[in-house]
Amino acid sequence: MKIVLATRNLKKVEEIKRVIHDPTVELFTLADFPECPEVIEDGSTFSANAEKKAVEVAKATGCYALADDSGLVVDALDGAPGIYSARYAGEDATDASNLAKLLSELGDRPEVERVARFKCVISIATPDGQVESFSGSVEGVIAAQPHGKNGFGYDPVFIPQGHTETFAQMSAKQKDTLSHRGRALLAFSAGWKRP
Ligand code: IMP
Repeated sequence: MKIVLATRNLKKVEEIKRVIHDPTVELFTLADFPECPEVIEDGSTFSANAEKKAVEVAKATGCYALADDSGLVVDALDGAPGIYSARYAGEDATDASNLAKLLSELGDRPEVERVARFKCVISIATPDGQVESFSGSVEGVIAAQPHGKNGFGYDPVFIPQGHTETFAQMSAKQKDTLSHRGRALLAFSAGWKRP
């Protein structure tokens, strides 16, 4: 079976490929389908966006498509950056500018007010438009300063509950075991009734 990963985020591609180990599945990326149109993420939830990406890419490529929509939800910021995590600091945002904005919004709040969670929805769509979704999340706190060089996005400031290091200080394997994406992919692997 051929599955196209409906994302242009190479870090997400890396993480998804690390977790899905199925010799009967051949994974492709959007780099293999340069003609595939850009999907506008205009949903109001992670699942709406993940489902839209999966359905549109499956239709455009004629293959099964797997999409990931994910982000960071911070309680003290009323759930921001949430579905806007990738562009929190504006349309041309980078991981560094998003991180700087998050730390500045939180200021010097104490740890109890820095509670957050990463959320991920993985959707799989068939070429004829049927779609199924699986979710995962991980609780944690936002560190006062960035630590570590691994991963991407907000990893340098996210300390998962029960740990003292950020995701960016952990090995890839350790992040996969604890992360929202690792958990959503596990639910997908266990729950998807493939044809
Ligand atoms: P999406 O591409 O619209 O799903 O936005 C995902 C954004 O959420 C990324 O650009 C990151 O800013 C953030 N994000 C999602 N997953 C992770 C993760 O595993 N580590 C760090 N940041 C993440």
